[in-house]
Amino acid sequence: PKGGQKTVLIMMSNTGGGHKASAEALQQAFREEYGDQYKIIIVDMWKEHTPAPFNTLCDSYSFLVRHSILWRLTYNMMQPRPLHRSYFAAVNAAVSRQLSAAFDAYDPDLVVSVHPLMQHIPVRVLASRARARGEAPPPFATVVTDFTTCHNTWFYPAVTRCFVPTAFCRSLALENGVPADKITVHGLPIRPIFSKRLPAKATLRRKLGLVNDAPAILLVGGGEGMGKLEATVRELDARLQGSAQVAVICGRNKKLLNTLRSTVWPGGSHVVAVGFVDNVHEWMAAVDTIITKAGPGTIAEALISGLPILLNGNVPCQEEGNIPYVVENGVGAFETDPVRIADIMATWLGPSPEARAEFAAMAKRSKALGRPRAVYNIARDLAGLVESAKELAVEVAAAAAAPARRACCS
Ligand code: UDP
Repeated sequence: PKGGQKTVLIMMSNTGGGHKASAEALQQAFREEYGDQYKIIIVDMWKEHTPAPFNTLCDSYSFLVRHSILWRLTYNMMQPRPLHRSYFAAVNAAVSRQLSAAFDAYDPDLVVSVHPLMQHIPVRVLASRARARGEAPPPFATVVTDFTTCHNTWFYPAVTRCFVPTAFCRSLALENGVPADKITVHGLPIRPIFSKRLPAKATLRRKLGLVNDAPAILLVGGGEGMGKLEATVRELDARLQGSAQVAVICGRNKKLLNTLRSTVWPGGSHVVAVGFVDNVHEWMAAVDTIITKAGPGTIAEALISGLPILLNGNVPCQEEGNIPYVVENGVGAFETDPVRIADIMATWLGPSPEARAEFAAMAKRSKALGRPRAVYNIARDLAGLVESAKELAVEVAAAAAAPARRACCS
């Protein structure tokens, strides 16, 4: 009935924007590489296919992450394996019937999880569903979308494959019992558009309303426009006095956008503010450096774009390891105070030849660390999993048929 087309079910959840973005990046890479050979279905399994209260995971996350002490407690309490395994075992009893029915409906040839809470239960549900049907479960892959510090629930030894973005994540996967031959390090799956050739910087700057005769700083705070963005623009304006221009992507933070647009900057800086945009790749290619919270997506995109990165904050727990990653790899710095952020920018973009050389070296190291092909490499390996499962199914069918043939010939 599927006409040879294979179905890949990607399970995500909108806890933060990154999981959905990674799922969509994989979907685009599949489409580019394999056309309609694969049907990619992206589903929030918790929201769509579990009963209350489990279907309110997103709301609980938004609440917890805004109250960092609560988030730290929840995150750390669930770290020990015996604890989260017993928790998942108990939850499994409440959600397995509905999840199993969803797997029946989607009938996937491959299941991919891009979420830390979607390994243990789905793998078990798929296994018991397959046992009941007397067939092998579809292959199951985890694609980790945190960059360095990852919650232990990302890692479940029984998965078929586990894709991680960095060597640090690989070591966490190993510590959590995932066998080495199941772990692949490709990088984060970033939208394919980031690996395409773009118009020249000057052309992009004209298009985006930036000027060509001053260095440009991009300021972002993830999809929600989080952090001290307004204070940072004010300090940059005061410190740089118009010697550099500032582009601010406010994301979904409408209040910030309105404030920035209606402000006259006393230092005379050229400030361009936009809301949620779908061309972050163009903004990154048009500027010289970025100030951002330590979001994995934005960091990976900035590396692909070869930008020195000034991190100005982080979501507690899962973004913490991204700070030493940026600093120790010599691609940027960490500073939360807007006044000192402006000082660092004044040095990075200042006239001193040593500072210029160091800034250029940072940009070069950043580009070298970027993984623009990661999304394609992951998609190719995922397609490989579907193919090997197909071959295995043919072998199993042949083996099952063999005794029958022998019996009929004797
Ligand atoms: N982003 C976007 N448009 C915007 C603002 C952000 O497409 O106006 C994207 C950005 O390119 C990145 C993601 O949103 O891919 C933010 O991910 P990150 O992991 O940095 O932070 P999160 O918002 O998930 O906390």
